[in-house]
Order: sequence, then C-alpha cells, then structure tokens
Amino acid sequence: MPDTSQAGERILRGIAVSAGVCRGKILVLGKPQTGIPKRQLAPAEIAGEVNRLGQALNQTRHDILEVQRQVTERVGPAEGGIFDAHLLALEDPAVIDEVTGMIERERINAEFAFHTVAEKYAVALGAIADDYLRERATDLRDVAARVLNRLLGQRHGPDLHHLAEPCLIISHDLTPSTTAQLDKQKVLGFGTDVGSPTSHTAIMARSMRIPAVVGLGNASEVLRDGDYVLLDGFNGAIIVNPSDQTLFEYGQLVRRQDSIQVKLRDLKDLPAVTLDGHPVILSANIEQAEDAVAVTSCGAHGVGLFRTEYLFINRDELPTEAQQAAAYREVAAALQPHPVVIRTLDLGGDKFLTHLQVPKEMNPFLGWRAIRFCLQETAIFRTQLRAILRASATGNVKMMYPMISGLDEVNQANALLETCKAELRAEGVPFDAGLAIGVMIEIPSAVMVADALARRAKFFSIGTNDLIQYSLAVDRMNEKIAHLYEPTHPAILRLIKITADAAHQHGIKVSVCGEMAGDPALTPLLLGLGVDELSAAPPLVPAIKFLIRHLKLTEAQELAAFALQCESAPEILARTRTLARAVAPSLFQNTL
Ligand code: PEP
Ligand code: MG
Repeated sequence: MPDTSQAGERILRGIAVSAGVCRGKILVLGKPQTGIPKRQLAPAEIAGEVNRLGQALNQTRHDILEVQRQVTERVGPAEGGIFDAHLLALEDPAVIDEVTGMIERERINAEFAFHTVAEKYAVALGAIADDYLRERATDLRDVAARVLNRLLGQRHGPDLHHLAEPCLIISHDLTPSTTAQLDKQKVLGFGTDVGSPTSHTAIMARSMRIPAVVGLGNASEVLRDGDYVLLDGFNGAIIVNPSDQTLFEYGQLVRRQDSIQVKLRDLKDLPAVTLDGHPVILSANIEQAEDAVAVTSCGAHGVGLFRTEYLFINRDELPTEAQQAAAYREVAAALQPHPVVIRTLDLGGDKFLTHLQVPKEMNPFLGWRAIRFCLQETAIFRTQLRAILRASATGNVKMMYPMISGLDEVNQANALLETCKAELRAEGVPFDAGLAIGVMIEIPSAVMVADALARRAKFFSIGTNDLIQYSLAVDRMNEKIAHLYEPTHPAILRLIKITADAAHQHGIKVSVCGEMAGDPALTPLLLGLGVDELSAAPPLVPAIKFLIRHLKLTEAQELAAFALQCESAPEILARTRTLARAVAPSLFQNTL
C-alpha cells in the first residue's frame, strides 16, 4: 500500500478490527476533557470572558432543552423530566456567582474557573451519605461537561441518532454500548484513537459488519469534520483525500472480496468437516436476540456464546425475568434443534450499566466483574438464572459461567441455580431439569484446575480474549501494548492444550469462543490442539468453515506438535499462517 502518493493524500495507520472498506465524509466526536487549560487574563479581557461564560451557559441551556424534547418524544415524559434536574444544576446561582467572581478576582479563563467551582460542588455533594444528593453531584458533572465542551468548542458526547447523511465516525474512543446503538444505515465505519482487537467495541463492530480501525493515535485531533476519507478495515488504515490511483486499487480489493463472499455463501448448508473427515462444531457468538437470524444465514451450528450483557446495557432499568426469558427463548426457538449457549452476565471490565452505581475501579478487568459481580448481586443473578431456566423449556439451551477462577465459584453458582430450580418447580414453571452447565476457561488458575472443573462441568468454553490478557498480563484494551497480545505465545498454546486434554479425559467437549476462533489463520492451530468447537461472530463463520473444509486434521496436528515445542510466538504464527494460506489462499487476498 502506498504511504503517500499524490499531493493531499495522507495515511493514518492503526489496528484493523473489523473487515471491510468504506469511504465518505467524517464526523469527529470530541475527546473527553482531560486537563482543562488555565490562562491568565489581561484586565481588558475580563468582561469578554464573563460574557463568553454567559453565552456558553445559554447554549448549554438550549442543548439540554433539545435533548429533553427528544427524550420526551422518543421515550416518554418521565424520562424527559430527568433533564429538569440538569437545568436546575446549570442555573444554580451559587455556582454561577462563584465562577464569575473567580474570573473577575483571579483573572483566569472561564473554563478553568467553571471546572474548578463545579468540581468543588460535585465532590462536596458526592461525599454526603444521601442518594439524592449524590445523584445531584452526577447531574452537576454532566452539566459541567456540557458547559466545558461549549467553552472549548467541542461536541458533547456522541449524538449518533440524528445523522443527516451517511458518514464515518472518528472518535477518541467509543464504548461498547454506544457502538451497539450505531445505525448501520448512517454509520459506514469508524476509527478510534485508542482500543484493540479484543475490546468489546471491536467485537461489536465485527458482529455488526461495520468496518473499523482502532489505535489510530491522534486521529480525532488531526482530522476535521467533513474530511473525505477511505477506511481500510482489512489492513488498519485511514486514507485522507484518497487519490484516484488509491481508489482504483481499493475498488479492485473490494471486487476480490465480493467474489470470495459469493464462494463462501455456497457453503452455508455444508458441514464443517476437514478433508480427512474430522467434524468440527462451528457455532456463532451473538450479543442480542435479533442476531439469531444472522446465525442461521451464516451456516453456523447454533450459538456457542450468547453475551447477555447487551440486554442489560443501554436501558434505564434492569430487564425483568420475563423480558430476559423472552429474549433467550426467542433465540432458542429460532435455532432449535441447534444448541444455544447462554453465558450468564459478564458485566464490568469495559461493559457497565448506566443506571447502576458501580464504583470506579483502578483495574476493572481484575475487579468486580462477571461471576464475581453475580455472586454478590444475587438478586440480579437469580433473576437471570430463573429466566434462563424458563427459556430452557424451549429448544436446546445450555448455560455457562464466565470468569471462573476455581471450583468454589462454580459450586456457589450451582447452589443458587438449584434454589432457582426448586422455586420454579414449586411454582409449576417448566424448565429443562438436565440443563447442561459449562464453564468458561479464561483465567489461568481455571486451566490449572481444569481437571477438577471438568468433573463438574458438561463442557468447557475457552475465552481466549481474557485468557491471553490474564496470562500474559496484557490489557486487552490498550493499543500501546497490542503488540504484546500474542495469541500464538507458547504459554497460551500450552494452556489451551492442558484445557483440551483435561476436558477429553473427563469425556466433555471443549470450545473456543474468543476472537482466536474467528481468525482463519489460527484455525489449524486450534484444531490441532484438540479443540472440538469454534464459535465466532456470524460474519466470520463462513471463512472458518471454508478453511476447515480445505484442511486435513493430520496437518493441523503436525502443526500443533511443532507449536508445542517451539519457543517463539512469531515463528508459530508464521507456520500456522503458511498452512492456512496454502490450503485456502483465496481467504487471504485482502491486502492491496
Ligand atoms: C473471551 O474472553 O474470550 C470471551 C469470549 O469473553 P469476552 O470477550 O466477552 O470477555
Ligand atoms: Mg471473557
């Protein structure tokens, strides 16, 4: 790919996380405020600065009224009423007087004065042991962020619901919940300054088939609204003002991809079996009940991972037992007789509920996450367990626990499950009494006790995204250390092998549902290590099936034997890539 060619073309490089090419004008979303600039004013500037503050307050008032109008219209008057508290916080005379006094007395700029005063009040309110006042602190911070964005000339948060025309989004970051809400008709693709391939934002982009590049560094600072760009989600680049030559080359790349897709579509109803007759269970990862359609159309054998968190985020209240049961049942009914593995709630890490007051943690991925959260918030957990049990009366439902570090958590979760079963029995509600319970293997300690876990579980599912993060001590969200996040690290391959062996010794199957399962270059390695099932985002499933059908298990086993005695991650990666490219060259024609 050219680095620059004709005048005006510029390339920003990042990490490709969701395949595809798109082009169009961009919309740049503001970066969250980090340090607020402090500036000493000349005496002659003071009046103008107070005036600028007044204008920003006025504009913010209009912004809030507009949001209130939209929320009232789309959600309801009660929800719209929430913004009355924001208006009150904005118009609080004590805050405004103090900020104005500070600008005049200390001769400092409006944003610094406003930030200082608002933060002082927010901290004071937040420290009071009263839920109402603590909420006012949150309101004040939200409003202060809006005022500061106005003063600094930035957009407040992503309002992606009212895009006038299709565009590409450039942002410092996007949360998984924002990504889940993107309108595919309007958002052609996105690029972020930070992030990595296994962040849930990237995973979501792949599921939604939105081309995306992350880890672009300072794209949100150097790019401007309206810039015309081409986004390459295969190779991880954004090309600003692409030249005619570049557009031509990408036109050819897209045509090659389209013809591969046609070939892959023909595989839909064919089995995932190797050339030497070894059947592989190939299933799909989903995030919402609506994704069941994509599972069928991609030719997957059911769902290997249903990430239930997305039923909980982007809403104001927790979903009820009935609402959850309906969503799980919908998927089970649509896919029967194929299995649907429902994973219990994995909140925390990079996925949070807006309405649940979860304290900010220093290390959220090592903190109050997944099964740890559920075993303490038992009311939320029991509601979900009951919902899954109720759904298990339909189709072929299985359930698994995330973030298991040892036997104790499985025992505690199972004990709660038994009480839920007893309740439902007493209520006369039908459920599958033999519901298969699996364990996710994504913490190294779980691998080390895999033999004990295998005696309790009906199946294992290896969450390689977390297993790699926790065993290599590499934050899966951090683009600065993304080069250290190595799926082919010898330690990871040995952990997978130990898990597969323990599973097989106890007569249970082992699946991989992390992003490793969706990379066709790694398919030979995983099969050679003894993995029985691969579960990937629906758009990735056809390519994995194609590879499986062109591979011999014996070749995969030879590769795995080599990998298990090799000391170098890059060497293992090169060997598995060579094998994958040799058996299915057409899958890897995505570079220029
Ligand atoms: C994993 O960790 O590999 C996994 C599948 O779970 P998640 O990505 O949701 O943490
Ligand atoms: Mg995980």
